[in-house]
Amino acid sequence: AEQDVVKVVEEAIAAFEPTREQRHVELSVLFEPDLPRVWCDHGAIVISIVNLLSNAYKYGGQPRKIELSVARKLGEVMITVRDNGKGIARREHKRIFEKFYRVDDLLARQQEGSGLGLAIVQHVMRAHRGRVIVDSEPGRGSAFTLVLPIQAKVRVSEPMSSTGGTA
Ligand code: ATP
Ligand code: MG
Repeated sequence: AEQDVVKVVEEAIAAFEPTREQRHVELSVLFEPDLPRVWCDHGAIVISIVNLLSNAYKYGGQPRKIELSVARKLGEVMITVRDNGKGIARREHKRIFEKFYRVDDLLARQQEGSGLGLAIVQHVMRAHRGRVIVDSEPGRGSAFTLVLPIQAKVRVSEPMSSTGGTA
């Protein structure tokens, strides 16, 4: 259904809040004014944002600082999660979205994970005809952006069944 993107993002922040508080993660949030409503599966987008926040926390720097920003660009809404971690080498940028793939380094081995988070995020974004973009370099942190088409008008008959959710 049509969703208030601010509410969707706020729900993800609330879900992440216990971790943020216990582990002393500094989270700054920036909403551009007058964000549009977007046609999306509320639960699936919340899960996607939580997956990105969880990665930013797990693979983040010390002390942990996460920036979440939401902006509009033409017909799309961009939800960006940026961390101050060690970053991801370019050769890994494609593979991290594969099921069960984890970068083979000390940091990944120290953190629990099955390698499914980003595969789910990519699946959800494709089901929305959107995409997920990684912007990262070793030593410069990582930013992941969910790009969500606003799709003011969507045919109701359009199946969104591949997310398993209801739109
Ligand atoms: P899961 O999300 O299923 O608990 P996971 O976090 O290992 O496990 P993904 O979220 O799919 O799986 O991420 C895949 C891999 O990409 C991670 O194991 C990690 O090596 C790398 N990665 C993901 N996000 C970041 C990040 N923000 N900074 C550095 N590396 C990252
Ligand atoms: Mg993950």
